[in-house]
Amino acid sequence: MAFPFGKWVLIDRMPEEPVIAFVYLDHHAGPSAKGGLASDLALATMPTRTIRLSPDTALSELSASEVHARHLPAQPDWLAHYGKQPDPESAWHRDPLLAGKFHASHPDDIQTLVHDGDPRRMRRGPELCWVRLQRIDRAPTRRLTEGFEPSRHVYLAELLNQPHTLKSVSRGDRIKVISVHGLPYPLHVTDEYLGEREHWKITPCDKCGCSESFDPPSVMAKLRFPDAAPELEIQQFTSYCPNPNCNGLQLLARL
Ligand SMILES: [Zn+2]
Repeated sequence: MAFPFGKWVLIDRMPEEPVIAFVYLDHHAGPSAKGGLASDLALATMPTRTIRLSPDTALSELSASEVHARHLPAQPDWLAHYGKQPDPESAWHRDPLLAGKFHASHPDDIQTLVHDGDPRRMRRGPELCWVRLQRIDRAPTRRLTEGFEPSRHVYLAELLNQPHTLKSVSRGDRIKVISVHGLPYPLHVTDEYLGEREHWKITPCDKCGCSESFDPPSVMAKLRFPDAAPELEIQQFTSYCPNPNCNGLQLLARL
């Protein structure tokens, strides 16, 4: 799950008493929560527990009425010592696929797979580059055969590194980025790619579950069937998974 930055949460620590804590970003130690035992009335002003969070930490957000009933402040005073905090309302900090992947000191910066297209077509592999997420846009949704939630939006981001070999983008460019089930990093996408997203179904990779690709499927089909007559529309094909750490297969089918 995503870290609920800026919120009070209850962390169950059976068999011990649960902790009520405020979720914040420690620029050295990462996502954390600070507070005290649920019975401790001074847990906001004199916290006694600090818990480092992982995406698996079992926690639940307190409701507004619980926060009110416990006289918890919107922000505890000690938060001022921890520098710039992630905006709890920004969609990328609520995206479970991105939880724990942001730069510790720059909460909106994340390493992203940036590319010029399918490495098989371009003869250039993707590069891992830092981008700064700035804005969210709605995007065409991929129809998936699996039960997991497809990503419904695209993040607009500034490319912070100069890529070593890529030719289609350079430092300072605004690029579009999506979070992808199965991929360890978010993926750079083009408008052409997004434009085909609703017209092709991808059966996620049989090994990692990745449900997107580098190129628009029509471009991939042309590369794989260069001699197909123009009036013949390729209906489906298999492809290697775009995940650099995976050698599984995806099935792409026109809808
Ligand atoms: Zn895979």
